[in-house]
Amino acid sequence: MSNRTIGRLVPAVTTPEGDGVTVHRTIGIRAISELDPFLLLDEMDMPAGAKGPFGFPQHPHRGFETVTYMLSGRMAHSDTVGNKGEIGPLDAQWMTAGRGIIHSEMPTSKGEAIRGFQLWVNLPRARKMIPPRYQDVMANTIPSVEGEGFSARLVAGSLLGQEGPVKDIAVKPLFADVTLAGGVAHIPVPTGHTVFLYGIEGSISVAGQKVAPRTLIVLTDGDRVAIEGDAGTRLLLVAGAPIGEPVARYGPFVMTTRDEIIATIEDWNAGRFLHAG
Ligand code: FE
Repeated sequence: MSNRTIGRLVPAVTTPEGDGVTVHRTIGIRAISELDPFLLLDEMDMPAGAKGPFGFPQHPHRGFETVTYMLSGRMAHSDTVGNKGEIGPLDAQWMTAGRGIIHSEMPTSKGEAIRGFQLWVNLPRARKMIPPRYQDVMANTIPSVEGEGFSARLVAGSLLGQEGPVKDIAVKPLFADVTLAGGVAHIPVPTGHTVFLYGIEGSISVAGQKVAPRTLIVLTDGDRVAIEGDAGTRLLLVAGAPIGEPVARYGPFVMTTRDEIIATIEDWNAGRFLHAG
């Protein structure tokens, strides 16, 4: 058994995004443009009573996947493939943009704070042009896993013999909302996969080092991580297999070469995303 320790700490950069939304970004900034296979991590945290309308009106994606996980408030979405719906607290949505989708994501609230995460997960080159697909994961379908010093809501991946509901994702992700029981939690993670932590509530320590809130914690390699914190401390734990391919990126498009990006912009300008599904 080898414990992972802290490889790198990345404080969030607060930046405006979409229409009137403020996000706290830790992957996809100058300090860390990607963390293979992850391309972006935004925490959306808007105070109770925030007045809309705000959000992310119609925009395209190609070549990767977007994962939304809500802690508070709701997110209404609709797209050109005909999907329409709303996710609420502790629901998740795993959207595979594949060869192209145009969608809108509009946070809504009945006065409560709007808080959640969006993670971008890369697709290997061979799967970038697959048809778009949604996996809406309602909170009551997410299993709760009990481990040594923690419990976890398992959105994707396997942990201590249980499986999350998100299926068939190339990078074999682990996506868990972890609550500490108090003391030290030992959580097994796959060796060789990229793993990061991000605090949700309370203060966490890894390998004896206390980490400030709103900080991405990138771990070294190993087959488990020891996390310390008071009972009720909560964090996101995410792992994925690195893809190891070049990343060519332009706004909402992520391909492997500049030529593919140029072709993508041509497809977008010619309206071909409207029929991509
Ligand atoms: Fe989007």
